[in-house]
Amino acid sequence: MKAVLYYRGSLSSCNYDCPYCPFSKNVDSKDTLARDRGQLEQFMDWVRAQEQLGHELSIFFNPYGEALIHRWYREAMVELGDMKHIKKISVQTNLSVKLEWTERLNPEKVSFWATYHPGQTEEARFVSQCMELYNRSLRFSVGSVGVRSAFDSIASLRRALPEDVYLWINAFKDNGNRYTAGEIRSLEEVDPYFSLNIPDYESLGKSCQAGSQVFYVQGSGQVKRCYKDRKVIGNLYRDGLEGLSQERACGMKKCGCYIGYIHMPELQLGQVYGAGLLERNPQPLL
Ligand code: SF4
Ligand code: SF4
Repeated sequence: MKAVLYYRGSLSSCNYDCPYCPFSKNVDSKDTLARDRGQLEQFMDWVRAQEQLGHELSIFFNPYGEALIHRWYREAMVELGDMKHIKKISVQTNLSVKLEWTERLNPEKVSFWATYHPGQTEEARFVSQCMELYNRSLRFSVGSVGVRSAFDSIASLRRALPEDVYLWINAFKDNGNRYTAGEIRSLEEVDPYFSLNIPDYESLGKSCQAGSQVFYVQGSGQVKRCYKDRKVIGNLYRDGLEGLSQERACGMKKCGCYIGYIHMPELQLGQVYGAGLLERNPQPLL
């Protein structure tokens, strides 16, 4: 079967300290890092074994914190790119790490979901990191959280990046934040799909691929159907994909996060993002 696996190990630390993030400047102990590394090794063993079973996988690393400052994630991305049964590899990152190692990545399969955090890094430094990926023909999208204090920085970043690099803006939904019509218009000039991220979509009882073709895997092997529904639906290493996969209507009232709602068939977001749907990097429809 074809499946998308979001993977998140025990890591919960970051080299940045964004004020809106619970992992800012969190430091993981040696034990936690060793556990995270062991978990990723176990996951990679499982992934290798899926080729013989005929599965085709897309893998998305979405850590609590920054993964790419740890060698085991970089090595995993390189190795996954060489596996025939892996269709895509993507990672959420602040793009702070040195990027020489990216020469070894498979540009046909790898993409970066790079988030810009004004206040944590200089724009010039972030753009230069982006250009390193760009010049290596590696695919990436860039994004930022649409807090009002970041509007100017986001507009400036848009001007600094090549036109063909997509810049997304996450609608800031905490504190009952409401954008004015004028703000939405100007944010849409930067991200033409910004409005799609504003709603919390009504999802209860609706069809969703999460749990049938899309799985959220934790380092222990526990699997949940999505980022929001906390119910454990099984264990990757015990149940395998066939044992986990089941059509299930959504049990949550609303779905407001890109990594979740893109899997709701009724929203038809494949028609917007094309082949770059998973990694939030719109590609022309063929
Ligand atoms: S870069 Fe990401 S993980 Fe790190 S502190 Fe900022 S929001 Fe959190
Ligand atoms: S619609 Fe959203 S909340 Fe519901 S199952 Fe899908 S991803 Fe989860």
